[in-house]
Amino acid sequence: MTAAPLDGKQIAAAIRVQVRERAESLRSRGIEPTLAVMAATDDDAAAWYSRTLSKAAEKVSISARILSLDPGASEAGLVAEVARIVIDSNVHGIILQTPLPSRVRPDVLFSAIPPEKDVDGTNPLSAGRVMMGLRAFAPATATAVIELLKSYDVPLGGAHAVVVGRSMVVGKPVAHLLLAENATVTICHSRPRDLPRIPQQADVVVVAIGRPRFLGREYVKPGATVIDVGTTPDRDGKLVGDVDADAVQTIAGGLTPVPGGVGPVTTAVLLRNTISAAIRSSQGKLTDSHASSWPSS
Ligand code: NAP
Repeated sequence: MTAAPLDGKQIAAAIRVQVRERAESLRSRGIEPTLAVMAATDDDAAAWYSRTLSKAAEKVSISARILSLDPGASEAGLVAEVARIVIDSNVHGIILQTPLPSRVRPDVLFSAIPPEKDVDGTNPLSAGRVMMGLRAFAPATATAVIELLKSYDVPLGGAHAVVVGRSMVVGKPVAHLLLAENATVTICHSRPRDLPRIPQQADVVVVAIGRPRFLGREYVKPGATVIDVGTTPDRDGKLVGDVDADAVQTIAGGLTPVPGGVGPVTTAVLLRNTISAAIRSSQGKLTDSHASSWPSS
């Protein structure tokens, strides 16, 4: 068996077409959809990501503002800097990158981004709303995982999904979104006694642990779908996934490549969320429904 490649680039391209159309429609009504990408770190990777996101936004007619917050500022000072962006009605979506300065409580800073502008779902309120099945932006990577699975018609209702990794940005929100799709969900982390045995029973495995080529053939049931979220740069700067792709593709039914799988879809979802936020702000209303993400129109 050779696993079907679950290509994220095609899915991302289709999302970008839709986003661009909506962005241009907003512009024709005098609204300039705008994403603020903030970082409070001198980290090169964060600077690179801000530039990448900004270029991706501009390609779909979304304006991007890259904002460097003072890494030496106090927690209250950083909250005040974020608040200054939040009150700008011309900014529709806000992303605050990690790492944050170690003396700062991430939940305090993320709480400063209101759910309606929280396009990467980092505010604890957004996380709670996603868990409750209320409208909110889920973290873009978690949404991208579901987008990939649905785009390739992977059956989720009644399926057993195993998520390896329990971070707030990927593992936990993916588990909630899978539950919302009626999958039976098991979450693994670094402490289970017999890790290979658990994913080995799954119809769908999502791995997000940041351990290059960790997930081998012994973790996978024949024919299962495997989503590799991991992206660790190797010595040459090339991204390496959490899945040992050479081994796993001989047993899985479908496998996302790294790069070219979850990553491009994540970026496209962030842009789509920004457009959703801009449309909602232009409509000036907030309504709840039992949906795990806000609609794009
Ligand atoms: P994280 O916050 O470091 O969390 C890692 C999780 O993996 C933790 O829950 C940890 O368990 C678990 N883990 C670590 N080693 C393990 C092991 N040997 N066996 C089982 N579980 C283990 O990482 P993250 O932010 O979720 O990111 C994970 C990976 O996804 C990274 O490579 C990151 O770069 C990538 N990522 C990619 C995208 C994208 O768009 N493609 C977006 C976000 C993240 P404990 O909780 O027990 O410590």
